Amino acid sequence: MMFRSSRREVLAAGAGGAVALSGLPAFAAGQGEGRRPGYAIVGLGMYADVILPRFAECRHSRLTALVSGSMDKARAWGARWGVPERGLYTYDTFDTIRDNPDVDIVYVILPNGMHHEYTLRAAAAGKHVVCEKPMANTAAEAESMIAACRAAGRKLMIGYRSHFEPANREAMRIVRDGELGRARIVTAETGFNIGDPAQWRLNRALAGGGSLMDIGIYSLQAARYLTGEEPVAVTAVESTDRTDVRFREVEDTINFQLRFASGTVANCVSTYGSNHNRYRVVGTEGWLDAEPATAYAGNRLRLRRGRETVEHTPPALAVNQFSGQLDHLSQCVMTGAEPIVAGEEGLKDMRIIEAIYRSAAEGRTIAL
Ligand code: NAD
Repeated sequence: MMFRSSRREVLAAGAGGAVALSGLPAFAAGQGEGRRPGYAIVGLGMYADVILPRFAECRHSRLTALVSGSMDKARAWGARWGVPERGLYTYDTFDTIRDNPDVDIVYVILPNGMHHEYTLRAAAAGKHVVCEKPMANTAAEAESMIAACRAAGRKLMIGYRSHFEPANREAMRIVRDGELGRARIVTAETGFNIGDPAQWRLNRALAGGGSLMDIGIYSLQAARYLTGEEPVAVTAVESTDRTDVRFREVEDTINFQLRFASGTVANCVSTYGSNHNRYRVVGTEGWLDAEPATAYAGNRLRLRRGRETVEHTPPALAVNQFSGQLDHLSQCVMTGAEPIVAGEEGLKDMRIIEAIYRSAAEGRTIAL
């Protein structure tokens, strides 16, 4: 993956042209006209409600189907988002989506523990898949999802939206281009104070784990995409009050340290007890600080270079992160290119997450 051409991104945005995110395959002029891949959204919850309005800003994607536990709910959402009756499914009728030529891509926005099953069913129906993070409950499930999509000759992308967001892309570019000198210490903190003890995020079977699976994964992702490196060792410490009714099955706080081959170290916070959304990279010649770092909008960067600290405005992109992500997979489907956040990227995180849990459980550093 390359993220160097921020100038190109500015030009593309300024020209109102195709979504020319740097490192992403450009969508050749005219190629998308008359043929915009259709999406089925599976799971009509909070995040589906964030995604659905974004089709309006897509240039290469359209919404053609909805899949819900209840046909009444599917109809109500269909009426709101312009999906006709022939594009409405329940989880029971989902497999018949194979017969719907308007659906090219299935977007799985279900609880984590259901990602594996629905990705396999989508691939078996001959559809490309975008699956929300975390990719699955386990690395073994993630491997079988990759294998199923590969065997079906279909694309698999993970919903890592920060890779399509201007401030995060600019932060990647700044760090990887060496504008801070050599990256030494990364600090990444993500967390929130979780409420309702009855929600699926606190159920082990549906969530796969606690804060690390849901929100700490953003710290892990940031440490990896900012440096462009893979960790070689991980050390983790968990702190969970098991008398708190929310944490009967999953962890609250699990902080972890990643060591990279270059010597860079990342200190990461993952918690369900307090609100955090920040990262910082300190290099030999300056630092970068992002807060909020991975919000839906309004992410902010500050830079320290020499003796100056400045607010830094990233180059604009042609579209918001959600539409950019949707259109990227559509373009990959049309051109045959691989998504910049393919299933293999999700699998890497799942393997590191399993090592983090093992490190905390065994009280020792785990080599990766
Ligand atoms: P949610 O609880 O709001 O929605 C989940 C949907 O799944 C609901 O419509 C629910 O009815 C349905 N569902 C089907 N079977 C269910 C079951 N057995 N238990 C509970 N719900 C069931 O959750 P959400 O916040 O929309 O999260 C869904 C997925 O999206 C998760 O994997 C989450 O990690 C991911 N997510 C990603 C982002 C992001 O920024 N990329 C943001 C939020 C959530």
